[in-house]
Amino acid sequence: MANSVNLQVKAVALDFDGVIANLDVNWNAALRQASKIAGFEIKSLLTFYENNHATPSFQKVSAEMEAIELCAVATAQPKPYIEDFLKSLQQKQVPTYIVSMQSLKPIKTFLEKHNLAKYFTAIITRLDCPSKTAQIQFISKQTNLSPSQILLVDDAKRNISSCQSLGTSCFFFKRTQNQKETKETWNKILKLASTNQI
Ligand SMILES: [Mg+2]
Repeated sequence: MANSVNLQVKAVALDFDGVIANLDVNWNAALRQASKIAGFEIKSLLTFYENNHATPSFQKVSAEMEAIELCAVATAQPKPYIEDFLKSLQQKQVPTYIVSMQSLKPIKTFLEKHNLAKYFTAIITRLDCPSKTAQIQFISKQTNLSPSQILLVDDAKRNISSCQSLGTSCFFFKRTQNQKETKETWNKILKLASTNQI
């Protein structure tokens, strides 16, 4: 998938599952459970969250999925070299966000456990915004940056293409990479994010 990056990137927005850590979740079982709670068949949680945001049905499904996510973060490990990467962004004074369709509690639990919370300006989750594009718009509003000045790093092609249509700078992150590839990927992102920093 082609990356599209503005040379004036001023902030970085990292997806959580697939970029910061890989969550081991049986999504088919989770979908069945979510469908049972909602009372209709949910084929995609992303579509469900987007169409039902803040409704009682959303709250119930989200709470159940949060419990599954909490179990998954208990065993998940941070991606190799991520702390070095986050440290470098901090040194270059690039504000770094998490934009995730997971829930807040599992992400916070994971970051605190691995001492990574201090590197993030804010964590935007499905509780705040119904979609990845809405999350980018949220940061854009908060920071007064245009979407093109925000670099989204995400492992889902669906999120990359929806955010690209907003004009967001996007980097497609391969969910499965070996240590060496992961290190090279962090370095590539770092280069893109540091080109025009003061
Ligand atoms: Mg992801």
